[in-house]
Amino acid sequence: MKHNVTLIPGDGIGPSIMEAAVKVLEAAGVSFDWDVRQAGTAAVEASGDPLPPETLESIRNTKIAFKGPLTTPVGGGYRSVNVTLRQEFALFANIRPAVSFEGVDTPFDNVDIVTIRENTEGLYTGIGHFIRIEEKTAAAESTTLITRNGSKRIVRHAFLYARNHGRKKVTLVHKANILKHTSGLFLETGREVAKEFPDIIFEERIVDACAMQMVTRPQDFDVIVTTNLFGDILSDLSAGLIGGLGLTAGANIGRDTAIFEAVHGSAPDIAGKDIANPAAVIIAGTMMLDHLGETGPAERIRKAVKRVLREGTCVTPDLGGTGTTSAMEEAIIGYL
Ligand code: NAD
Repeated sequence: MKHNVTLIPGDGIGPSIMEAAVKVLEAAGVSFDWDVRQAGTAAVEASGDPLPPETLESIRNTKIAFKGPLTTPVGGGYRSVNVTLRQEFALFANIRPAVSFEGVDTPFDNVDIVTIRENTEGLYTGIGHFIRIEEKTAAAESTTLITRNGSKRIVRHAFLYARNHGRKKVTLVHKANILKHTSGLFLETGREVAKEFPDIIFEERIVDACAMQMVTRPQDFDVIVTTNLFGDILSDLSAGLIGGLGLTAGANIGRDTAIFEAVHGSAPDIAGKDIANPAAVIIAGTMMLDHLGETGPAERIRKAVKRVLREGTCVTPDLGGTGTTSAMEEAIIGYL
């Protein structure tokens, strides 16, 4: 059976790591009918539109996309295509697992944290404005939106994820001591939802203390559920705990559509040098295979990736090696 998937190569290191990932997924014996579409810088260059209607239409049809990282202009410029995609398809849950790999030198060897980030609300709604006085920007205001329904949906998703993946604990991360309205509503709703899951331990952490504990006692964390901005930051923190952004994948899940990608961005500092680590998008690809019911090939790919990391002979510079994107891809395919 062929799977119809929208493929977005992305910007910067995107095209090269996505090419590697596609080769690995196909080498595992899974057949795809890729509908290749542009978004981000490539789309702006081609049509002036960072998110062309054909790309949206393709995802509407396939209901699943495998996406490379997209550059977002800092400060001004067009709105993040990533955020727009998440909102357009109501991809409310961003699942970001961070698991220690043997062979990757880090301070801890027992990290196994899944961050479940609310993906459509919080500070990322794009509601905001500049306040100008005599032509000068004097102030700026951004709105955080938290809804009871959105909070219920994401916390319930986290508990169901924990239950379905044999996990024991959900930690809700908030800042309700200061952000009494928004974070307060998220916490209050989370506490209500937690009562529906007596089989799963429920804990609460204030985000600043949580960040400190994650870097001193990461083994205390299992599943983390939190709002958009905190989830964005803490999931990069947990990526750092296991060896960096080159190893951490994410799934954006909605009711009927899903987009799989690496946690990292387009890494302009290393683009075009064939040294980007393709492992994160390959692992994102295995999350997509699980979603498609191709669990056997997904597990085989994960084993091959682990073996390449454990041996360490061809890993990329972010992991201390001298390998290239293509060498890692070939080694993974070799083990498949
Ligand atoms: P980044 O994740 O692109 O890079 C941060 C650091 O990690 C850089 O030093 C980079 O070289 C390194 N790195 C990232 N991925 C790597 C890989 N696969 N292998 C080896 N090293 C890797 O973050 P940034 O520099 O802050 O952002 C660059 C652009 O990407 C920005 O425009 C940002 O908005 C965008 N971005 C996009 C996404 C996405 O598409 N989902 C996510 C994050 C950032």
